[in-house]
Amino acid sequence: MKVAIIGAGMGGLSAAIALRQIGIETAVYERVTENKPVGAAISVWSNGVKCLNYLGLREETERLGGMLETMSYIDGHTGETMCRFSMQPLIEEVGQRPYPIARAELQMMLMRAYGLDDINFGRKMVGVSDGPDAATVTFADGSVVTADAVIGADGASSITREYVLGTPATRRYAGYVNFNGLVHTDEAIGSATEWTTYVADGKRVSVMPVSDGRFYFFFDVVVEQGLPYRRGTAREVLREHFAGWAPGVQTLIEALDPETTNRVEILDLDPFDTWVKGRVALLGDAAHNTTPDIGQGGCSAMEDAIALQWAFKDHPDDVHAALAAYQAARTERAGDLVLRARKRCDVTHAKDPELTARWYDELRTEDGTNVIRGIVGNILGGPLTPVPS
Ligand SMILES: Cc1cc2nc3c(=O)[nH]c(=O)nc-3n(C[C@H](O)[C@H](O)[C@H](O)COP(=O)(O)OP(=O)(O)OC[C@H]3O[C@@H](n4cnc5c(N)ncnc54)[C@H](O)[C@@H]3O)c2cc1C
Repeated sequence: MKVAIIGAGMGGLSAAIALRQIGIETAVYERVTENKPVGAAISVWSNGVKCLNYLGLREETERLGGMLETMSYIDGHTGETMCRFSMQPLIEEVGQRPYPIARAELQMMLMRAYGLDDINFGRKMVGVSDGPDAATVTFADGSVVTADAVIGADGASSITREYVLGTPATRRYAGYVNFNGLVHTDEAIGSATEWTTYVADGKRVSVMPVSDGRFYFFFDVVVEQGLPYRRGTAREVLREHFAGWAPGVQTLIEALDPETTNRVEILDLDPFDTWVKGRVALLGDAAHNTTPDIGQGGCSAMEDAIALQWAFKDHPDDVHAALAAYQAARTERAGDLVLRARKRCDVTHAKDPELTARWYDELRTEDGTNVIRGIVGNILGGPLTPVPS
């Protein structure tokens, strides 16, 4: 059995490691010529951490992860604490601590675990097709490979998806842009062991710890799609959007490095149930592109990888049966996370301002129970985090 994986993002690499764990021959093809992840960090929630543990990366994940002990919401205007609570009940309920991790480090951990030399960099897929005995991938350099199965982990703008669905899928602008980066931790912004979120006016500013005394920060701003933006101007832009906000937010704006601050328009895709065409299957953002509002896109990609391994374990000699089992195991769960994120996105970003005002009121009386219930609801339902019966 030989499986070709297109894309060396967190989905493709997790899948490659997972398939190799059960003795399947894998080949990973990545269009970029070097590892340059877009984005500063991600929160790997407990379901994602369990996947990394399963892939043999427990110690390294713990080393790279930030220590989240508490969570707080702060009124963006006044700086008043709306609520603060421990993460411990969440950890106890799901049996695993979550870890925010710098993207470059997460990516490098996965690449090393698979083998940097085993990744075929600079190989941009331009075509994929299914056949009775093998699937075929064509690359921009004219080379062609065949494999028993092709896994398209080629991200949100996947061309594998276009092949599987038979038509391009249009992504939807979620209504906001996200500025993100890394800064040194600073108590004037938030506690070094807390996920701190400032909210007001449908905007949010958040910091959470990653390893080595750094915060992963992000700002969400509701603006129209396609506004011009010049890299390096984040400070001026954010000063304007957050004029008059609390001192912690101003400190963060002054501390960030405008040159390394990313600006991302947030899009997602309606869930769909066809992930497989013959010997070709989708995985990760290619299959379920979500807004980052519940921090589950990458975790879901890692869940796909584990489910794919289990499907091949159950059907070692039958690619079609394995991919059908993979699709059956994943579409509902992944689609559910996309829709949960969309719902959260709308409340956070004041799609209906009354609903958002009500959420702010609720936060002022929150003891953690409701927020944690929501996060646990996201975490449960994956291959390694079954919903208790
Ligand atoms: C602002 C933001 C914050 C986020 N925060 C979180 C979070 O906190 N927690 C979380 O779990 N998720 C988060 N996500 C989502 C997460 O980043 C994605 O779900 C995850 O990166 C998906 O991994 P992937 O491997 O499927 O795709 P990608 O990471 O996009 O990787 C796809 C790879 O395929 C390669 N590729 C593409 N086309 C080709 C081709 N034709 N040929 C060869 N190679 C190709 C690309 O170069 C890339 O390396 C966030 C996303 C955003 C935008």
